[in-house]
Amino acid sequence: MDSIDSIEKNLAEIKENIRLAAERAGRRPEDITLLGVTKTIDCERIQRLVDLGIKNLGENRVQELMEKLDVIEGDVSWHLIGSLQTNKVKYIIGKVALIHSVDSIRLAREISKRSETAGLLSDILIEINAAGEESKHGFEPDEVPAVIEELRKLGGIRVKGLMTVAPYVENPENNRIYFKKMRQLFVDIKAKNGDNIDMTYLSMGMTNDYITAIEEGADIVRIGTGIFGMRNYTTGGSVL
Ligand SMILES: *Cc1c(COP(=O)(O)O)cnc(C)c1O
Repeated sequence: MDSIDSIEKNLAEIKENIRLAAERAGRRPEDITLLGVTKTIDCERIQRLVDLGIKNLGENRVQELMEKLDVIEGDVSWHLIGSLQTNKVKYIIGKVALIHSVDSIRLAREISKRSETAGLLSDILIEINAAGEESKHGFEPDEVPAVIEELRKLGGIRVKGLMTVAPYVENPENNRIYFKKMRQLFVDIKAKNGDNIDMTYLSMGMTNDYITAIEEGADIVRIGTGIFGMRNYTTGGSVL
């Protein structure tokens, strides 16, 4: 992991890259949200990032999210970006701004049911396995129109967009086709907006490929390593 003082410098570089990529694509930099991915990162470092102005934070695991939620100070919106088990949904309803990783109808139904019980609406993204990788979560692109029609029936959720975790590649150009595919899918569904379908966010791009993702239309990029340096999973558990 980088020293805590490198966070400011790393962040400045990333913001500059976002600005340049947005300009190349004829987009406004302020329309792109930088989500700080804080899994395995201790609260002191996370707080530094928040104090530098990053107010959207993403966590993969419910327990880690819940632990940090109470410690980090400031006007922070938490996002769940990792695989979510149905039996953990009850802990996060009303606590997160956006659930990026809805990868089954069953999960969407549970989120909807729990939200209705709490008198809330939960915003979700549909996770897409854009490259059809065996190891990845998410719906196949072909399944999405039918999935949308199922989700339309659920009163406790709003479908705010799509998310993907692209393959890990050395050269981000190799992921451009998947980002293009995601954009097309997003535009196709947006044409059918209505009821609780409100396509607003395309969440794609991580440390290795966020520049390419922005060029292809990402609204939310999720960056961990680029901000904090390499993660150390061996200290997992003692996140405070
Ligand atoms: C860890 C993670 C990220 C951030 O990855 P980096 O390569 O560290 O930027 C983004 N999205 C998801 C779903 C993740 O699990």
